[in-house]
Amino acid sequence: MKQNFAVIGLGRFGTSICRVLAQEHQDVLAIDINEERVNSLANIATQVVVADGQDEETLKSLGIGNFDHVIVSIGKNIQANILVTLIVKELGVPDITAKAENNTHARVLTRIGADHVVHPERDMGERVAHHLLSPNILNYLALNDDVTMAEIKITNPKFTGKTLQAINFHQQFGLTVIAIQHGNKVTVSPAGDALVQLNDELSVVGPTTAVDRLDAQMK
Ligand code: ADP
Repeated sequence: MKQNFAVIGLGRFGTSICRVLAQEHQDVLAIDINEERVNSLANIATQVVVADGQDEETLKSLGIGNFDHVIVSIGKNIQANILVTLIVKELGVPDITAKAENNTHARVLTRIGADHVVHPERDMGERVAHHLLSPNILNYLALNDDVTMAEIKITNPKFTGKTLQAINFHQQFGLTVIAIQHGNKVTVSPAGDALVQLNDELSVVGPTTAVDRLDAQMK
């Protein structure tokens, strides 16, 4: 389904968001105070505008309140980032994603009604650290403080050449296997007779401690 997005602040983060949304054929309005940044997206976004996002009248005249999603990706100018988030909230945008520079900033954004607060540098740093410590963990998503979804590469022959039923990840680790990737082939919600082979990538969900225990078996 086609939706419309407005991205305010076209640094590296905002620009990447615009590019992916445009590749996915979504309507994208790209706004920045800097003309050069705006011009670089002229042939990519649906509409580009040079404007100060803090200017409420301009945002109103662009009909921001009617957009499905607004992404506030102004970075270093925290004050502008907060004010723009507040304005788009007041204009009635139903889904706001705002980029935070630090934890205090993130708290303020949540308080004023940002629906999603992202911390690109911190989040990426965490991912890279997890990967450095656990090269077998290819993807990691903490669902809350205790539960994690992870994609883990099975390199211990103890688990290979066997079916899910025989290995019984649930009984051994308390983990549910939600997908098995073998080469390019992905089996979603695999049955008990699905075979696990060397270097398969298993998507599992369960207690974070259980994911860590399974990962420890790969070393
Ligand atoms: P990144 O780390 O994503 O590159 P930056 O802080 O470097 O983030 O970039 C943020 C962008 O937001 C810049 O292109 C800057 O011109 C833009 N910007 C800053 N203040 C405003 C504002 N008041 N209105 C619109 N865009 C702004």
